Amino acid sequence: MAEQAKPGYSDTPLIPNSKYRVHDCDRPQPRVVTPGTESTQEAAGAAPSDAVVLFDGTDLSGWVDKDGNEAKWKVENGYMEVAPKAGNIKSVAEFGDCQLHVEWASPVVVEGDSQGRGNSGVFLMGKYEIQVLDCFENPTYPDGTTGGIYGQCPPLANSCRKPGEWQVYDIIWIAPRFEDGKVVSPARVTVFLNGVLLHHDKELIGATTHKKVGEYVPHASAGPLELQDHKNPVRFRNIWYRPLGAYDQE
Ligand code: MG
Repeated sequence: MAEQAKPGYSDTPLIPNSKYRVHDCDRPQPRVVTPGTESTQEAAGAAPSDAVVLFDGTDLSGWVDKDGNEAKWKVENGYMEVAPKAGNIKSVAEFGDCQLHVEWASPVVVEGDSQGRGNSGVFLMGKYEIQVLDCFENPTYPDGTTGGIYGQCPPLANSCRKPGEWQVYDIIWIAPRFEDGKVVSPARVTVFLNGVLLHHDKELIGATTHKKVGEYVPHASAGPLELQDHKNPVRFRNIWYRPLGAYDQE
């Protein structure tokens, strides 16, 4: 079967420990929450003093394409913009557990619907997608909503701003741990969008896939941040992370 009247699918596999299917068209839509603070359209927030800045608005020197070559996205006016068909780009820096800050804006000119409107994505370690989508008055399958752990878990709320407005992700990422070729501690993520909690310490089932159940394949303890080219001119700015430290360290 193809697309349903409601966006999503009814012929995909069941998600483990869930009554819902991957991209389930009948899963409840996340409730809409209007963010409480004004979008900072002019000034990007400054990074904390110990942050590793991945993109400061000037150039893509810290980014490469999937083959390790020069990243071909557009940079202007303090932001980068997906150059459709240029492909995903990834940070040269690789890291694991972190606090990650990403600002993004979907296109002002609204085109398409569901997954075709303002689609991009933030892939932790290049494998685990937190969805970026224009979900302002744009229904889609719930596990593909903005802030969804794509194909696994919808966000607790839909706190999208209007198309073209800057939006803020603050993400706490705990990388998966592997031993003897198996996952012994799944990845866990906490996500805020525009100050609204979307996930709290939520376990991931595995790496992101489409229409299938994600699985873990062992990988290094550090990986790049990857941003998705889904052929929509989504913008990003002010991207930084702080490695997570332990308590009581000298
Ligand atoms: Mg995406």
